[in-house]
Amino acid sequence: MNLELSEEQTAMRQLAKDFVDREIAPHVIAWDRAEEVDRSIVRKLGEVGFLGLTIDEEYGGSGGDHLAYCLVTEELGRGDSSVRGIVSVSLGLVAKTIAARGSEEQKRRWLPGLTSGAYVGCFGLTEPGTGSDAGNLTTRAVREGDEYVLNGTKMFITNGTWADVVLLFARSTDAPGHRGVSAFLVPADTPGLTRRTIHGKLGLRGQATAELVLQDVRVPASAMLGEEGKGFSVAMSALAKGRMSVAAGCVGIAQAALDVAVRYAGEREQFGKTIAHHQLVQELISDIAVDVDAARLLTWRVADLVDRGLPFATESSKAKLFASEAAVRAANNALQVFGGYGYIDEYPAGKLLRDARVMTLYEGTSQIQKLVIGRALTGVSAF
Ligand code: FAD
Repeated sequence: MNLELSEEQTAMRQLAKDFVDREIAPHVIAWDRAEEVDRSIVRKLGEVGFLGLTIDEEYGGSGGDHLAYCLVTEELGRGDSSVRGIVSVSLGLVAKTIAARGSEEQKRRWLPGLTSGAYVGCFGLTEPGTGSDAGNLTTRAVREGDEYVLNGTKMFITNGTWADVVLLFARSTDAPGHRGVSAFLVPADTPGLTRRTIHGKLGLRGQATAELVLQDVRVPASAMLGEEGKGFSVAMSALAKGRMSVAAGCVGIAQAALDVAVRYAGEREQFGKTIAHHQLVQELISDIAVDVDAARLLTWRVADLVDRGLPFATESSKAKLFASEAAVRAANNALQVFGGYGYIDEYPAGKLLRDARVMTLYEGTSQIQKLVIGRALTGVSAF
C-alpha cells in the first residue's frame, strides 16, 4: 500500500479540517450541554460534499474513494463524534447500502436527498431484546397484497428522530434455509411509526438517538431493499464498511486527544516548569501518539482494500476493535494530562472520553469483533 496521499485526498482532508474548525469546533461544548447538534449542520455537510462521498455523481454523490471518506470521517471525529456519527450512519450505513443494493427506483428516490443533506437516514437493526445477536430480531413484516405490514420496536437508533428514511430490518418469512430477515426502506412519516428520543447518554449527547416503535406500518412491496430473506447479509455488509468508518472516527478522537494533551502540557506549570518537562507526562503523551498512528494505519489498510475491491471484513473488525479501544485509552490519557481540569466540561478531554466509550459498544462490541476475527482465523464460529 502506498502511504502517500494523492492530491485529491490531501485536498479533501484539508477541506474537512477547515470545515471542522469553522462550523463545528466553536459549538462543541454548547451542543454537548444542550444534548442537540444544530440541525443546520446536515445541510452544510451536504453542501460541502461530505454526505455524498463514494456515491456516483449521477445520484447526487461527490465521488471519491474510501480513503478520502476515511480522512473526512477522521476529521469530523476530531471535531465532534456526534456530527461524525450523523455522516457515518446517513451516508455510511444507509446511502451506501442503497447505492450498492437498491433498485434504480430506490436510488433515484432516496440518494439525491441523502447526499445533499435534504434527508437524513437511520439504520434500524438493534431491538430491545436483540443487540449482539441481531440475527434473532423479532420485528415482523407480513405480506398483505401489494404491501408489507411492519410491527416491532427498534432500540438505540442513531439519527432516529431526525431521519426521513429508516433502513429497517424485519423478519418477513419463516421459510427454512435462511434467516428470513428482509431489509425495507421506510419513510419516517409513515403512519404507525413513532419515535422517542433517548436522553441521558454518557457521550454522543448531541446526537438524536431514538427508540422506534412500529405499529401496523404499511409500506408497498417495492420498499423492500434487495431480495426477500437476504436482509441479514445486507445488514452485515453495511456494518463491515461501517466499522471502517467507526475506526476512522476513533482515529479522529485519538488525534484530538493528542493535540489537546500536547498543547496543555506546554502551558500548564507545576514544580516550576511546564508539565511537558516531566517524564511521566511525556509517557502519557507518547502512549497517545502510538495509539493514533497504529489506529490510523489499520484504518487506512481497510480503506485501501475496499478501494482495490479486495476482501476487507476481517480487517475492518480488527481496525474497529483496535481503534475504539485506542480512542478510549487516548482520551483517558489526555484527561490525566489535564489533571482536575480534565474532569470539567470546559476542557475537551472529558467529552472525548465520553464520546469514545460507545465506540467499543456499537456496530458490534469489542467482544463481538474478537469473535468475528477468531472465526476468520480458526474457521470455528464461537458466537
Ligand atoms: P448485548 O448484546 O446485550 O451485550 C451485552 C454484553 O454481552 C456485551 O459486553 C457484549 O459484548 C456481551 N456479549 C453478547 N454476546 C456475546 C457473545 N456471544 N460472546 C461474548 N460476549 C457477548 N443499533 C442500530 O441498529 N442502529 C443504530 O444506529 C445504533 N446506534 C447506536 C447508538 C448508541 C449511542 C448506542 C449505545 C447503541 C447503538 N446501536 C445501534 C445499538 C448497538 O449496536 C448495540 O447496543 C450493540 O450491538 C450491543 O448490543 P446490546 O446493547 O444489546 O448489548
